[in-house]
Amino acid sequence: APSIVWFRDDLRVADHPALHAAIERGAPMVCVYVLDEESRGIRPLGGAARWWLHGSLTALADALDQHSGRLVLRRGPADRVIRALVDETRAGAVFWNRRYGGPERDLDARLKQALRDDGLVVESYAANLLFEPWTIRTAQGTPFSVFTPFWRACRSAPEPRHPLPAPNGADAITPADAATDDLDDWDLLPTHPDWAGGLRDAWTPGADAAHARLRDFLDDDLVDYADGRDVPSEAATSRLSPHLRWGELSPYEVWHAVRERRSDGAGASRFLTELGWREFAWHVLFHAPDLATRNWRAEFDAFPWPRLHPTALRAWEEGRTGVPLVDAGMRELWSTGTMHNRVRMVTASFLTKNLLVDWRRGEQWFWDTLVDADAASNPFNWQWVAGSGADAAPYFRVFNPELQATKFDPDGVYVKRWVPEAGTDEYPEPIVDLKETREAALAAYEHVKAAR
Ligand code: FAD
Repeated sequence: APSIVWFRDDLRVADHPALHAAIERGAPMVCVYVLDEESRGIRPLGGAARWWLHGSLTALADALDQHSGRLVLRRGPADRVIRALVDETRAGAVFWNRRYGGPERDLDARLKQALRDDGLVVESYAANLLFEPWTIRTAQGTPFSVFTPFWRACRSAPEPRHPLPAPNGADAITPADAATDDLDDWDLLPTHPDWAGGLRDAWTPGADAAHARLRDFLDDDLVDYADGRDVPSEAATSRLSPHLRWGELSPYEVWHAVRERRSDGAGASRFLTELGWREFAWHVLFHAPDLATRNWRAEFDAFPWPRLHPTALRAWEEGRTGVPLVDAGMRELWSTGTMHNRVRMVTASFLTKNLLVDWRRGEQWFWDTLVDADAASNPFNWQWVAGSGADAAPYFRVFNPELQATKFDPDGVYVKRWVPEAGTDEYPEPIVDLKETREAALAAYEHVKAAR
């Protein structure tokens, strides 16, 4: 009886334990991706993510094809779709790599039980995180809420396993018969208007591009990563985040590539720590599944968000706040589907503290516009900036966008790239006074202190 390999956030063929297991099993195989926009609690993808997914599925179909496999596309509530596929193909086994979001875990657990009750072999694997969230615990057996001890615990856990090899040979996979949707019918790409030109220029989805990116980063930027990572005008970071988000590259592949290259340097250690923040975000989400909607620190429920000022939110989204570094970041985001980490912090601080807009509004905009938006890192980092999150920045740390620009973009290279009119008459005055709004934010924070 055939095996089903259910691809989710792991759009690759190398270091893919579920695919590996199906190949070992030896039976014909259905490799399926399910576009699930219906199951309860599963967050629909944002626009930039849909664009990326189209490219990534195209690349995955090619990669499977090189091993004689075939990618089957289906759409609908995932549990129903997989069960229908089992019936259609008379499959005897289903394999997948684990997901860590709350609704996804519930769905997977229910489906696994139902299929096992029907006599199928169902196995799930660790593939997208280096450390399974439930295995890293404090001495008291509780989840971590502070990064440094979390990462220390990870580093003293057994070293992450080595990556599995890609399927071996041009006929490694025997496809089983199953009908597929046409990817173009999913309408993942924007048409009217086509806003994706800048994304196409900036990115190539897929595992081949991901591996090329990793090699370039290791060759050119890893050594100076510790210093270069904060300068937004330079391409000094890895730019691997969307590839990791979609699992075109596994964290195991990245981890061992860095370790083999130079595990001793400051650049390597800093870079591995950043991968650690990704692990931490998922650890926090695993233990607080409603991270995108609820303050991780409950006392922030007392924060008196003023009534939403839609024009201020709009100006922020469109990069028209009159604050050059903020506008540069927001325009980079809209144009390319990404934003430098330093500037993400500055723009998020500006929205939540200077404009006093609820972090959830900003999180939602990033969710829709980032190619790397994921269910853990995005809300985790928003809450980190807003002060309501795990191991968050202290509330009084209101990023001053002018000082940040002086420090990290001293020659204005980054700002000029995205806001060429800055400094001329055409450029508007700031929509708010930075000093006054900072004070208003600190005053609002008194309510949180009182609720503590
Ligand atoms: P590098 O500096 O090369 O870092 C290597 C990898 O480490 C990244 O690819 C990423 O996987 C991981 N990483 C680095 N920093 C973080 C971090 N703070 N949190 C989690 N993982 C991290 N990152 C996302 O992947 N998805 C998001 O949706 C996301 N939303 C964010 C929202 C805000 C408000 C902020 C301040 C940060 C957000 N980040 C998010 C974190 C960070 O900005 C990006 O991971 C980083 O800019 C990606 O660029 P890079 O791949 O060149 O990173």
